[in-house]
Amino acid sequence: LEEDDMGTSSIHIVYQEDPQLENLSQNSCTPAEVSRAKLCSQLKPRNYQLELALPAMKGKNTIICAPTGCGKTFVSLLICEHHLKTFPQGQKGKVVFFANHVPVYEQQKSVFSEYFERLGYSVAGIAGATVENVPVQQIVENNDIIVLTPQILVNNLKDGTIPSLSVFTLMIFDECHNTCKQHPYNKIMFYYLDQKLGGSSDPLPQVVGMTASVGVGDAKNTDEAVEYICKLCASLDASVIATVKENLEELQEIVYTPQKISRRVESRTTNGFKRIISQLMRETESLAKDVFEELENLSQIQNREFGTQKYEQWIVEVHKACRTFQLPDKDEESRICKALYLYTSHLRKYNDALIISEHAQMKDALNYLNNFFKDVRAAGFDETEQDLTRRFEGKVQELETISMDPSNENPKLKDLYLILQEEYHVNPETKTILFVKTRALVDAIKKWIEENSKLSFLKPGILTGRGKTSQTTGMTLPAQKCVLDAFRSNGDHNILIATSVADEGIDIAQCNLVILYEYVGNVIKMIQTRGRGRAKGSKCLLLTSNADVIEKENINMYKEKMMNESILRLQTCDEAKFKKKLLSIQTGEKIIRDNQQNFKPKLDKQNKKLLCAKCKALACYTSEIRMVKDSHYTVVGETFKKCFVTRPHPRPKSCGDFDKIGKIFCARQDCSHDWGIRAKVNAFEIPLIKIQSFVVEDTVTGKQMCPSKWKDFNFEKIPFNPEELSE
Ligand SMILES: [Zn+2]
Repeated sequence: LEEDDMGTSSIHIVYQEDPQLENLSQNSCTPAEVSRAKLCSQLKPRNYQLELALPAMKGKNTIICAPTGCGKTFVSLLICEHHLKTFPQGQKGKVVFFANHVPVYEQQKSVFSEYFERLGYSVAGIAGATVENVPVQQIVENNDIIVLTPQILVNNLKDGTIPSLSVFTLMIFDECHNTCKQHPYNKIMFYYLDQKLGGSSDPLPQVVGMTASVGVGDAKNTDEAVEYICKLCASLDASVIATVKENLEELQEIVYTPQKISRRVESRTTNGFKRIISQLMRETESLAKDVFEELENLSQIQNREFGTQKYEQWIVEVHKACRTFQLPDKDEESRICKALYLYTSHLRKYNDALIISEHAQMKDALNYLNNFFKDVRAAGFDETEQDLTRRFEGKVQELETISMDPSNENPKLKDLYLILQEEYHVNPETKTILFVKTRALVDAIKKWIEENSKLSFLKPGILTGRGKTSQTTGMTLPAQKCVLDAFRSNGDHNILIATSVADEGIDIAQCNLVILYEYVGNVIKMIQTRGRGRAKGSKCLLLTSNADVIEKENINMYKEKMMNESILRLQTCDEAKFKKKLLSIQTGEKIIRDNQQNFKPKLDKQNKKLLCAKCKALACYTSEIRMVKDSHYTVVGETFKKCFVTRPHPRPKSCGDFDKIGKIFCARQDCSHDWGIRAKVNAFEIPLIKIQSFVVEDTVTGKQMCPSKWKDFNFEKIPFNPEELSE
């Protein structure tokens, strides 16, 4: 289901390398030329690859930490081959390799198949998409090497299909820094550690993890960073961290680290656009205060400014608080709630527009608002909306004049323009990836390039994440692949404007210019972004008007430094001592885990009301809600059918569990709040509702609350039974 309009958008970021893009061996051909046949027969490891593989070949549980692009896949092949060959006649090893995402899984599976099948080992794989009806146990039994997405193993351990991890002799975790919290990697390691600490005599597999960066979490000094890394080692039961030390020069020749340059640019000195929009925002805020005096007390966030992320957070909090606002007079309550809903929605759009005008052109921001008001007019368009639209329209002419005035050009874009000019002048074959913060900015920057005749040498393409954000759904995998193919084959595009897509395991072709346009991430992200610019002479430019952004980037660099120092410190630690420390961490963590398991949230069987979050109309009772395929929710019963209307879905598609065929909305004409979708599940067409669109009210106390996720909402979750529909 799509995220609620007002929900905060967060993208879960996972990192991985593309094995086919790596420099697999000494052979000096480009990765594209490394045909499968060559990969099988002519590979000779580089010295640093042997150095990285050595501790694992000695049978030690190891975390291998080496930069993106150095050929870690090949290191894992070496370890795996050595492991399988060390077994004496009559005994056999069994290796499992985990890949986090399907595209990575596919690449790894084919690399492993090509490499090992010539040696007489059998390789099989199971990924998320193929898992139903696959006899997992049999596949594990019959093959020497199994490539898996980790959730599959978690499921099979849970239901007992695979009785214990002892069936494996070696487990390799790709992008092992993900082994934390509730990530499937960590769940697998919980089974491992339970077995280790539970004193079972069954042998446990050797564990090898691979990563470009172990990370340091929130560490503020080297001591805390050491603690963080120790915890990761404990999670993977790894007593060795392998990094390149003896062959650093050789490594640095292979993995070129692009120079990272931060450039501070000036923002506009006068900003008529901001002045007018801010005035409209002040007016809207004061209208909201007229209907509800307590508005200021709804959020703890102080000193908010228009056009900032902080304002966005404030508006989300206020909006949420408004939803549970109650009065004895229900009609009055409905009226006030709806007005507040509209005011906060408008304020949010204005804030978005200010952010767009800050980083792109004013006319893009104006366009964004014009489109919003067009939608408003097409929907309910009640009195409040008409009033707000009139106020906006009163300013449109002035906004248009300002945004067309050349003296209001964004100096930041001018700087971007100069950089692009220079880079493509020096090297017309330059390939650029330009990272920006939001999806709306991707569109705005692309338009700016296309409309600028002096940038006609640029052929921009768009690449956005598969993740859903607050306003749009992401690109599909085939669409992403299509864009990337064109980019790689020197065809349609020579610059890609991207959001955080690069983090989804998509193989980004070699590019020699990475521009981070007001874009900051954590330390893992920084190392990975660097890996993108693999071609020699590549550059990474951070372009920002914000001193804080440069400061954050410096903090990231400092974190990287702490990480390297901490690893060095741990490597000089006595191994027996280190193992003892790991054991005490593991024991402590297990106690916490076991205690949490005993604590199960109490299911509240009492029937509750679900009200429309916008107009507060009664939608249904929790007793009418049924759970579909464990994570989706529908409503049975005749009364609910009258509460919503269905419209065809703008992007009908299959989502694995179901086909989206329509969207459903609150049936109240002046409300039309987005409630969820109409979906085809097996043979049944049913509504699937999203909990963020509703307010939950206790039928006894009248207390209201706003769960943002179904899993946070405790009620008796009854599985969907199609027979109920025909009753
Ligand atoms: Zn409604």
